[in-house]
Amino acid sequence: MNARENGTHRVVILGAGYAGTAAAVQLAARVHKRGGVQITVVNATERFTERMRLHMTATGQQTAELAVPELLDGTGARFVRGWVTAIDAAAKTVRIDDDRELAYDTLVYGLGTVADTASVPGAEDHAYTLNGAQDAELLADRLARIGDGGTVVVAGTGLTGVESAAELAERHPRLKVILVGRTEPGADLGRKARTYLRAALDRLGVEVRAGAELAKVLPGSVELAGGESLAADAVLWVGGTRAPRLAAAAGLDVDERGRIVTDRSLRSTSHPDVYAIGDAAAIRQGYGMMHGTCQGGMPTGVHAALSIDRVLRGRDPKPFRFGYYHTPVSLGRGDAVVQFTRPDGRARRISLTGRTAVRYKETVTASPWPTYARMRKMPASGAFWPRGGRFTRTK
Ligand SMILES: Cc1cc2nc3c(=O)[nH]c(=O)nc-3n(C[C@H](O)[C@H](O)[C@H](O)COP(=O)(O)OP(=O)(O)OC[C@H]3O[C@@H](n4cnc5c(N)ncnc54)[C@H](O)[C@@H]3O)c2cc1C
Repeated sequence: MNARENGTHRVVILGAGYAGTAAAVQLAARVHKRGGVQITVVNATERFTERMRLHMTATGQQTAELAVPELLDGTGARFVRGWVTAIDAAAKTVRIDDDRELAYDTLVYGLGTVADTASVPGAEDHAYTLNGAQDAELLADRLARIGDGGTVVVAGTGLTGVESAAELAERHPRLKVILVGRTEPGADLGRKARTYLRAALDRLGVEVRAGAELAKVLPGSVELAGGESLAADAVLWVGGTRAPRLAAAAGLDVDERGRIVTDRSLRSTSHPDVYAIGDAAAIRQGYGMMHGTCQGGMPTGVHAALSIDRVLRGRDPKPFRFGYYHTPVSLGRGDAVVQFTRPDGRARRISLTGRTAVRYKETVTASPWPTYARMRKMPASGAFWPRGGRFTRTK
């Protein structure tokens, strides 16, 4: 007898990152006692990947061992370890490791993003990434083997590039770190925070090459548009992200970065039985498209869970609304800057720097796991986040 015949609704959640785990815990906490819903969470690893700490892993630092199956134990949600290789949106099945199949009635797609190494020749073959813990560990191994005075190029001046360059320079002062990219580091921060960030990079000895376009990654060097070549013993690629190709291959509506395009309640515009959450979702708010963050990703997971619960109880899902409130940036372990923002992400006048910012950033980074634990007992505790006020209100 399949699950449908006995009246059970099968929810399959792909990805146990910040968003997928939030969805799983929230939904399980809401439906466990009522019954009639089978929740299956599929993830590549049992260990929870603290993506926000991958630059620490890449510099050889140990991070907490957090196990997703342990978190889900007793919630009624089942954990399946495996690599999702295909989705059949017509048959409503998911293929795992090419040889297992899972059927769903509702799918939650939370597979995150990976570095867009296809955008520049050679990046795929010769650059390191922070796609997962294993990738970060590969870079850590490489860094440990580079001799004194060697050079590491961090390709991408976004905040992941800034955090990585600072961490590398602090942990490996014997190496030269060059941060290369189109924009000024911290370009979206307010003037005070941006100036502070730049001074911190200078203090750590990071050489910043802003306004530079990477043209090629070669074994042992990178080439800039215009022909200049920079010697590199290792290249970390953090120049943009793209979503896994699974959704596009399954025929779902995706944007130019492969993210599933959603309606206002986070359902796929082409396949309403699929919810998209976190970095893998293209979500429009009143102020524009959301960009990938944990601060926005966890609420999307919770909202998808609330929506599924509502639909199962015969009600309509509510529109998703979210407004940003901060941009915390680590500058190594000893320094940080936190920019407070308007709901649309524009900088406010207030920012934190130095030790206060370090403590703030660490509190934020460490908060997801205790949040999940709290949600298990009190699901409503996970449903508070800034809705964005007039910035996200629609008529
Ligand atoms: C160095 C760094 C620092 C950051 N700092 C911040 C910060 O300070 N604040 C902030 O808000 N955001 C920060 N971010 C961004 C934040 O980490 C992401 O926005 C967040 O991880 C998105 O959550 P997610 O659940 O969508 O995806 P992820 O956390 O990436 O989770 C996706 C999950 O899916 C799994 N998966 C992927 N493909 C498959 C597959 N085919 N089969 C099975 N499993 C699969 C992965 O293993 C992973 O567990 C940072 C990112 C980095 C890299």
